[in-house]
Order: sequence, then structure tokens, then C-alpha cells
Amino acid sequence: MATYRDEAVVLRTYQLGEADRIINLFTRQHGKVRAVAKGVRRTSSKFGARLEPFSHIDVQLAQGRGSLDVVTQVETLHAGLLGGDYDRFTAAEVLVEAADRLVSEDGAPALPQYRLLLGALLALADPQRSAAGIVDSYLLRSLAVAGWAVTLGECSNCGVVGEDSLWFSPQGGGTVCARCRPPSSARVDGEALEHLGALLAGDWDVVSATSQPTVNRCHGLVTAYATWHLDRALRSLPFLQR
Ligand SMILES: [Zn+2]
Repeated sequence: MATYRDEAVVLRTYQLGEADRIINLFTRQHGKVRAVAKGVRRTSSKFGARLEPFSHIDVQLAQGRGSLDVVTQVETLHAGLLGGDYDRFTAAEVLVEAADRLVSEDGAPALPQYRLLLGALLALADPQRSAAGIVDSYLLRSLAVAGWAVTLGECSNCGVVGEDSLWFSPQGGGTVCARCRPPSSARVDGEALEHLGALLAGDWDVVSATSQPTVNRCHGLVTAYATWHLDRALRSLPFLQR
């Protein structure tokens, strides 16, 4: 069997039979890959623990005959990203679920999405950074890479700028003006706009200086925006505590 080597993030794992596991990987060079890891549920397995969700690994795979490749070697690049912290675990769940949804084509590389996901997972290991902030920033940036960049500071419908465009509509693509706004849109103020812009740019100095009520309000807006564009609610998102 032909083998190949790649760097990957483990998205999900599923039990297969008595001792095997199916591993959904997001690889750097081959996009999403589904592989079987044989015997990993036996206590004697040498790489079972390296294939836990959210792990960053160096992996060697053998091309299978069907849609499943076979894991033949695994080395850990970053493990234990999350410790036992519930907030960070649920945040990582949101990240991998969104990445799984946004990268659909199996086998096609999606390097910008890979970099965003890995960066966000590594950021979750830093206790100074808020888990919700990492998720909100990741969602806005990964949606932008996927072609759904949020509009901020002008009306996404008619283009008018400034004071008139301080409403936010998830289905409208971001900020909208008083004339174009659909009934479900929410009012935003200058601080919220600045915070959303900083999340999109990854400007952590601005993000960490934002007041908590605005952070919470923007988290709601980002969640609504991501949910709308990802077609249906991310199953893991409601578990992420504000
Ligand atoms: Zn307008």
C-alpha cells in the first residue's frame, strides 16, 4: 500500500468493531481524511492516546482501497491542549465542529482553514486568553475564509456608512442601516463594532480591553451569525458558557 505522511488535527473519533477506531483528521496537505486506527482500544496500543480529539499530530497513513486510509504511525506534536477545563473542552468542540462543517471536500487541501483551526486550538492552551473570545474570533475568521466575511461599519445591503449602519443582522451579512434592516436585527454600538472588528482581525489587545457586557452581546451576535451561515445550529455551541 502507498503511504504518505502529513501533519493533522484530530477532529473526531468513532468506535469501530471491538478494538478499532475511525479517526476523522484535518490534515495540512490533504484536507479532511478519514482513517482507521487498528487495535487502538486495546490497552497495549502504542498510539491510542495520541489520537484523541483536538490533538495535533504528525501521522503516517497507508492509502486504503475504499474511503478509509489506515493509520500506521503517529507522533504527538501538541497534546494535552485542554487539560480538564470544561470551558476549553467545549470551546474546542465548537472549533472542530465548525471546521468539519466549513471544509467539505475530502482530500482537497484547505490550508487557511487548517491554520486557523490549529492556531485557535493552541490559543486555548493559554489560560490568559478567554475561551469564548477565541471561539468568536475563530468563527468570524473561518467564515470569512469560507466566503462569508461579516460586514462591519457599513450597510451590507446599500453600502451607507457611519451612524446609520448600527444594526446587526445575521442573515443580512452583518451591519445594516435603519432602512434596510430586517425585523430580527439587533442594535449595535461603537464599542461592539470595534470589538467585532478586533475579533475578525485577531487584535487581542482590543479584544481584551472590551467591557464584559459588550463581549457577551457580541458573543450572541457571532453565534447567531455563525449559526445562520453554517445552516443549522452547531450542536456544541450551546454548551459553551458565556
Ligand atoms: Zn442600507
